[in-house]
Amino acid sequence: MRLIDMHCDTLWKLLCFEKEKEKRGAAEGTKDFSEEDLMRNSGCITIPGMRKAGTLAQFFACFTYLDHAEGGYEECYEDVLAMIQILDSQCEKYPGEIAHAYSFRDIRENEEEGKISAVLTVEEGGVLNGKMERLLELYRKGVRLITPIWNYENCFGYPNSRDPQVMKLGLKEFGKEAVEYAGRLGMIVDVSHASDGAFQDILDCAKGPVAASHSNCRALCSHPRNLSDEMIRKLANAGGTAGLNFYGPFLSGGKESKLEDMTAHIMHMIRMGGSEFPAIGSDFDGFDGMEYEDIPWVGDMELLWHGLKKAGITESQLDGIFRKNAQRVLKSLAPS
Ligand SMILES: [Zn+2]
Repeated sequence: MRLIDMHCDTLWKLLCFEKEKEKRGAAEGTKDFSEEDLMRNSGCITIPGMRKAGTLAQFFACFTYLDHAEGGYEECYEDVLAMIQILDSQCEKYPGEIAHAYSFRDIRENEEEGKISAVLTVEEGGVLNGKMERLLELYRKGVRLITPIWNYENCFGYPNSRDPQVMKLGLKEFGKEAVEYAGRLGMIVDVSHASDGAFQDILDCAKGPVAASHSNCRALCSHPRNLSDEMIRKLANAGGTAGLNFYGPFLSGGKESKLEDMTAHIMHMIRMGGSEFPAIGSDFDGFDGMEYEDIPWVGDMELLWHGLKKAGITESQLDGIFRKNAQRVLKSLAPS
């Protein structure tokens, strides 16, 4: 089993830990705290876990949360730069284990050297704060996928919503230009979290690959974060993919993350978009408060492989879901 996981929030978790450490250090006058990093942390994504899962590439989102930032999107942008720095320092700290990948070729080369590839993404285009030049800056720092909209209206456009009026709203003029530019630079544009209107606008404007890095099926779980059947068909026709999200509220609507629901969503994605459509976008380290999880960390990923196999999915389809479908999207990035 080889795995490409298109979404996790581990860098955000590590950043919060760093911030906490600084606060406590300042309060107690000491910096002597235990380390929390990719080799040993209490989260769902660790180097030993990724080894166990046969991870080829892990997408690491620089996720930022406007509600946590007194300084608004400017402070959020600083957070993104800090998370990029955290990943850089992890790659320096564990050079035999994990290395940046900026292209599909890098993933191949890292694989030959026995290293896990780390792909940087930014989840919340609001951090551009209307400054187009930040896209180039982020690209130069290694970002290869951008999620234009998180759960708030921002300079790109409008988020997913239970309000049908908001759901209809799409990209703003800046958002349209930025989506085009991201594709030309060589970034995947991510439709996860977007409103239905913005989803369509992104497909219409995209000049490069598109994906839903961590979204499930609305037909099985009626949540505005999930994709309707029509959206799945459109995204599949555009050569895109969707990463299966392990978060209970997007699987069944409840606080349980169950293998049988994951299997059902993958089967539905195949029915609507073909077996070249589904991928994995676990969202590990991005959700708390689950009451039960069949796959609590990346080290247990093979349970999903076996569950899908039992449901009748062939080995070659499985290889597509776990690796090749995401690989195809990465391959179609503009050469850097
Ligand atoms: Zn997300």
